[in-house]
Amino acid sequence: MPQQPPALIAKAALRRLALDKLEPTPENYARAYAQEAGEPARDNGALPDRAQAPISRLLSLAVPDLQVRTGLATQLKEGRWDELQRALEALQQTHGAGAQAEQMAQLIERLMKGLERGGRQWTLARKKDGVLRVLASNRTDPQRLMQRLRQLVGSWDSDTSDARVETQPAPLDDGLEDDDDRNGGTPSQFFTEDEVAAADSDAARYGELSSLLGAQGPGEARWPDIGTSLTGTVQHALRGEDPRAVDLVAELDAALAEIRQGGATPERAEAMEALCLRVRRWLDHRDHAFVELGKLCGALTESLADLAEDDSWARGQCEAMGQTLAQGLTARSVRSVNELLVNTRSRQASLREERSRARDALKGLINRMLQELGELGQHTDRFSDSVGRYAEVIEQADTLESLAGVVREMVEESRSVQSLVQQTQGRLRDEHDRASQLAERVEALEDELRKLSNEVQTDQLTQVANRRGLIATFETERAKLEREPRPLALALLDIDNFKKLNDSLGHAAGDEALKSLAARVSSMLRPGDKVGRWGGEEFVLILPEAPLEEAQAVLLRLQRSLSASLFMHEGRDVFVTFSAGVTLYRQGETLEHALDRADEALYEAKRTGKNRACVA
Ligand code: GH3
Ligand code: MG
Ligand code: MG
Repeated sequence: MPQQPPALIAKAALRRLALDKLEPTPENYARAYAQEAGEPARDNGALPDRAQAPISRLLSLAVPDLQVRTGLATQLKEGRWDELQRALEALQQTHGAGAQAEQMAQLIERLMKGLERGGRQWTLARKKDGVLRVLASNRTDPQRLMQRLRQLVGSWDSDTSDARVETQPAPLDDGLEDDDDRNGGTPSQFFTEDEVAAADSDAARYGELSSLLGAQGPGEARWPDIGTSLTGTVQHALRGEDPRAVDLVAELDAALAEIRQGGATPERAEAMEALCLRVRRWLDHRDHAFVELGKLCGALTESLADLAEDDSWARGQCEAMGQTLAQGLTARSVRSVNELLVNTRSRQASLREERSRARDALKGLINRMLQELGELGQHTDRFSDSVGRYAEVIEQADTLESLAGVVREMVEESRSVQSLVQQTQGRLRDEHDRASQLAERVEALEDELRKLSNEVQTDQLTQVANRRGLIATFETERAKLEREPRPLALALLDIDNFKKLNDSLGHAAGDEALKSLAARVSSMLRPGDKVGRWGGEEFVLILPEAPLEEAQAVLLRLQRSLSASLFMHEGRDVFVTFSAGVTLYRQGETLEHALDRADEALYEAKRTGKNRACVA
């Protein structure tokens, strides 16, 4: 073909560009010119043939749309770089944000539908739990998050109505691969151990999500934590130095570690069951020892009266102790029995000491009286000797003077004997009086000792009921409740910062505070109510027929009344506050049990600032 003039070739090249709808870029123009001129295409940057195959493979992976992919391949092949650049920009826009948003929208739609749809294996709670876990452990990687959510929703889709509910969770790591099409599986199969650990370490965020979605709890998938917590509880029950218990704790540790690592196979479950049986046996054994110990306390209490010097002194306390122990062996009851014993023992000791001093004094007096009587006897013996001697002298007297002399001597001697007898008589009378007084004192002290034992219902210091009195009142009220159920409120009061009061104003002022508080409370209660000193600076109120609100109102009234000073110390007002725990007695429970509950509330009142009453 003859060579066209360049101007015509240029024109034809432009026409070609228009027909091909190509932009008149220098590259396109050069290519069109060469074609029109019949020249071979110049190497204008097009890729070599052997690059074509890998590039189209690459494109097929990255660009799912066939039309777009072909366009890109052609542009690459022909080295139309400008067009390629623009096409890629457009693709990025649609396939970047747009496609991602679309994918996300689709996923959320599936998620919502899936949550609405009921399933037997995937209950709503399990589904929510699954979503929460995936969110918690994939929040830093959006792609992985989408992928995991897609897997999760896929597994819900396969949850047929007759699917058997998995009760035995599958091992945590099932080697799940990143495969979008994977469906089915049980909830726990979606979490590798790493993910579980990551989710655990992020517990706060998990809780937040939980409350946002209204999930009911971590759900069944948290079974390893539940296992750990249960084992921890059993180990706590086993704690101590007994070598068998120490061994059992170690075995529990090992068994749990094995299950955590390798999953709960039937063999491991069986081994755990056997181990738990051994633990139960050991705990039963210890419980038995505890019950036996309680019996021993009871037996000792009973025999204490027989061992005492005078059983009437001990009987009352033994009864009180027996009553307290009969209510059940709790730390509180043992402590209260102990306090009762310590208190009465020290009071008895001082009374006994006083009694033996009085006895010794009486003995001393009697001895002195005997001595005096002996001395008087000697004098009167001597006097009768003298009388005999005077009789002889009188018989032989030959003159009146000598007779008068003897008579004078006799009168003098009889006078001195008479005064000696009178003196001795006076002393004996005094000593007899004193002995009678001492004997009376001994008797009174004996009486007091007896009373101390029999009337151990009143607290010596405060003159309100003591623990024994409170127990007796409570028993009466409880008997009434059995006939006619009514509310019975119990309150435990504890003076705030009492140790500080003792330390700063002295123990006597502390005693005064206890007395004044007891008097103040007594004066403010209704006739049927009872206040008693439970021990130390603790008081108990028994408020029959008082619902909780009324009991709280009583305490509030008492607390308000303490905004006035309680008593005067060295001319200055002393203010005292107390904290309290209130509870309603529950039919059938022991007083100790109810007071334990009140004690918890009291603790809360102390913890939250004191001078208040909390309810349990
Ligand atoms: P809190 O506010 O937490 O109750 O503190 P607290 O200081 O009142 O309580 P704590 O139990 O630390 O101290 C109680 C003190 O009560 C210690 C003890 O010496 C004193 N106490 C117990 N019985 C008597 C008593 O009969 N007379 C006197 N004066 N003090 C007593
Ligand atoms: Mg206290
Ligand atoms: Mg106190």
